[in-house]
Amino acid sequence: MIEVTIIPVLKDNYAYLIRLGDGTSAVVDPGEAAPVIETLERLGLKLDYILNTHHHGDHTAGNAALKEKYGALVLAPETERGRIPAVDRGLREGEIFMLGGDAMHIIETPGHTLGALCFHFPESRVLFTGDTLFLMGCGRLFEGTPAQMYESLGKIAALPDETLIYCGHEYTVEATEFCLSIEPDNADLKRRQIEERAKEARGEPTIPATLALEKKTNVFLRARTLEEFTAYREKRNHF
Ligand code: ZN
Ligand code: FE
Repeated sequence: MIEVTIIPVLKDNYAYLIRLGDGTSAVVDPGEAAPVIETLERLGLKLDYILNTHHHGDHTAGNAALKEKYGALVLAPETERGRIPAVDRGLREGEIFMLGGDAMHIIETPGHTLGALCFHFPESRVLFTGDTLFLMGCGRLFEGTPAQMYESLGKIAALPDETLIYCGHEYTVEATEFCLSIEPDNADLKRRQIEERAKEARGEPTIPATLALEKKTNVFLRARTLEEFTAYREKRNHF
């Protein structure tokens, strides 16, 4: 089983510290090194693994400094490794990587970038989605097509409902506004907006959320056809 600690980095990114079952630890998407080092020192931990969901700098810029300080193994999408600093080992679709004794399933989710990955820990019911799925949102299509992203979100939607989603950015409250513009009468969405605004007011992260809640409130997961999904993604760009 894994234990996740949220580390706010940069303006609105999240890195995640994972304590693994065998006492080792990993970080997901270190957009900068200093806040990760502070968290490790506060918890009295070293760093064994660095995981990147995709090649963007706000998810990878801390790789080199953390690898140098801790000798951590850097794991990243095989198809993007040329664009990511200090990679040791590429990860591929369908692979099961034993990370400190915990099985990590690699799910390729192209759309935001072509090689984007999600990291799934089925036993712990945890999924790291990077910039593919946000709470009540989905990533911009910088490299992939709407059809690719729609299919990628379908892979996520097929996971167990109790799965906890840890995504790459804090965009949740503004995302509620967009989802309500599409589904103004969705009662779950109205209730969730109040709850997420309250967390924001208390200065708390809105992360994580269950996949079940996302399926009730995230219009990108609720789109019934590719055409509907494509229309929402296009509207979101100009919202
Ligand atoms: Zn990105
Ligand atoms: Fe990002």
